[in-house]
Order: sequence, then C-alpha cells, then structure tokens
Amino acid sequence: MNKNFLNLKDSYLFSTIAKKVNEFQKNNPNIKIIRLGIGDVTLPLTKEVITSLQNAVTEMGEVDTFKGYGPEQGYEFLRIAIKNYYKEKNVTLQTDEIFISDGAKSDLGNILDIFSSECISLIPNPVYPAYLDANIMAGRRVNFLNGNESNKFLPMPEDGNGGDLIYLCSPNNPTGATYTREQLKVWVDYANKNGAIILFDSAYECFVRDENLPTSIFEIEGSKTCAIEFCSFSKTAGFTGVRCGYTVVPHNLVQEGTQLNKLWLRRQTTKFNGVPYIIQKGAAAIFTPQGKKEVEENIKYYLENAKIIRNTFKELGFWFVGGDNSPYIWIKCPDNMDSWSFFDKMLTEANIVGTPGAGFGTGGEGYFRISAFGARENVIEAMDRIKKIYQ
Ligand SMILES: *Cc1c(COP(=O)(O)O)cnc(C)c1O
Repeated sequence: MNKNFLNLKDSYLFSTIAKKVNEFQKNNPNIKIIRLGIGDVTLPLTKEVITSLQNAVTEMGEVDTFKGYGPEQGYEFLRIAIKNYYKEKNVTLQTDEIFISDGAKSDLGNILDIFSSECISLIPNPVYPAYLDANIMAGRRVNFLNGNESNKFLPMPEDGNGGDLIYLCSPNNPTGATYTREQLKVWVDYANKNGAIILFDSAYECFVRDENLPTSIFEIEGSKTCAIEFCSFSKTAGFTGVRCGYTVVPHNLVQEGTQLNKLWLRRQTTKFNGVPYIIQKGAAAIFTPQGKKEVEENIKYYLENAKIIRNTFKELGFWFVGGDNSPYIWIKCPDNMDSWSFFDKMLTEANIVGTPGAGFGTGGEGYFRISAFGARENVIEAMDRIKKIYQ
C-alpha cells in the first residue's frame, strides 16, 4: 500500500456536523433548522443547459450523430467557447491551452503528476482541504501560508517560507476573500523570479462583481510563464452533480526547455478519456447569450443572499471577510469562542447550521463559514434569528 495515506488526518468535519444536527433535531423535532453550511449549489440547472443536454442525448441515440470516444482534452466547440469567454476578459488563449475536465477537484490533484516529487508545495491555511490531502497522498513536502485577521486571509509571499507549487484560490473557499490585481502581481513576480508555479483555483470567478478584482490569473502580466488555472462550472452554473470544468496550461509555461502543456496533454491522453459529449454540450450552453443570462440570474440570487448575510454581521459589529464577490462569508467567532463552540451555540440557540472554520485547517480556528447557497427566505429568517441573539 501507499503508506502516505496513513499520514492523512481523518476528516470528521461534515460527519460531525451531520451527527450534531441530527441529534439536535431528534431531541427538538418541532424546531426548523436552517442550513447555511453547504458548499453546494441549490438552484437547478438552467433551461438552456437542460435543452442542450436533451438534444445531445437525442443525438447519441441516432446512428448519424452518435459519438464514441471524444478528444481527451475536450471537444473543440467547448474549448472555443471558453477561449471566447477569456477574450471578454482581455485574455488571449489558444484552443490547445484549454483542457476540458470533469471538474476542478480532479485536476487540482492530478496536476501533481507532471511535477517532480522533489517540489515543495506552498498551501494556504485555512483552505479547500483537497489541496493538502492530494499532496499528502503523493508524499510531498508542504509549507503553509497563514491566512489571518491581519492579512485578511489573503496571504502574500513570505521570506524563508517558499515553495515550488503555490496554491492560490480566489475568490477563496472557505473565506470568500479575493485577491486584488496588485496582490496577484506580487505573486506572479515572486513565482517568475523563483521558478515556482502558481496553481490558481478560480472556481468562484463568476461571483466577482468588483471590476478592480481579477477573475483569472491570466489577467496579470507575466502570469503565462508561471501559472496554471483551474476552473469549474460547478459553482458557476450548478454543475456540481453534472461534472465539468477546465484547466488552462499556457504554452509559455516552460521548465528546462519543456512546455508543461505537452506533459499535461500526455498525462491526460494516458490516464483520462475525456468528459462525456452530452455533458460538454450542456456546458457549451452556458456560453450562449441566453445561457449567460440565465446563469447570471442564479449568481445574482446567491450574491443577494450573501449581501443580506454580510449586512447583518456588519450591523452586529462582527469581524468578517467575503460575501461581496463570493458566496461565502467568513466571520470571526465573537467573545473569543472557538469554531466548534460557536457552531454549537448557533445550532442550539439560533437553530442555524454553519461550518466551523477549524475544519479548513488550523488557521481557521476561531472562525466560521456561512454559505449563501440557500433559499432566500431561509437566509432572511436565519439572519433575524442571529440578530435576536446579538443585538
Ligand atoms: C467547489 C470547488 C471546486 C470545484 O470542484 P469541482 O470538482 O469542479 O466540482 C474547486 N475548488 C474549490 C475551492 C471549490 O470550492
């Protein structure tokens, strides 16, 4: 066996939450619990996506339009749609710099295949837990970048705490904090100077509203020689259960005379047989004029929820980040409570479920994540309940 797996810490986060919630509900059957802990979308797929999926299913049932294996790196129609989407951000990509994936999570782990096992990974703390676990499974060395109140959970390069593979997630899960262009420029310069590579997770890019904030690392000058971007239709278009995303590996990303794009292509053609045609057709509908409009409606709905949550905590004088360009609000637990004590208080006194920050790394202790992926009326009721406790 791969003994590195024995170094993984068991994650009890979501199972402990479920256990506590079930127990509380059992003892209090008449209480309505509101769940603001979910990191999953709740609105259904849009009409345009559904129609496109259905048409693709029909095509698969007819001999003239049936499709078997597709290109491992994705169908051209979807890669071109993504290329045009980047053009709107003033980012020019070649079609073969874009690789269609079955979601960002797989590629964020798989990308390690193309890097030397000697590399040191630099991982934020707190952060999306999959980065660290993928590195532990591969037996890789890891340094941590601490997010905290003073850097507003947007850590910057530190002397004496470097790495070869730098994981950045912006807008961030779990904190909702979003790097500015100036901050990302510092990271890009740092990576180019040190021969390091930025693995940029932009799964929440669609939630960015502030025009001064970047939605892609490739908006930053110099990034094409030092960055790979991972994106997903999961949070954008409700594809969490459908499974589709993409990874951008620029041609200019070269190490010791070799294009990393070539290594990734080889890796994918060897270990991956592509995303289903039907799913890619569904994803392409996101980029049609009508598809864009529908997806935008959903994002707006979640962002309005986020605003309601943000405004409540602002009014109550809590310290927090996120919620303006992100579906997550990251609050500091009041009265120096730890994450789980605050979780218990929220569950038993307000009957609200959030996510304890400590579940995202030691740096999340003392914080609490609230998600805007819920129904509007529940968000409003939850905020009224919190106001009753803290006003
Ligand atoms: C949800 C999420 C993803 C997307 O994962 P998929 O595999 O595409 O569903 C990636 N990164 C972060 C930080 C996420 O929260």
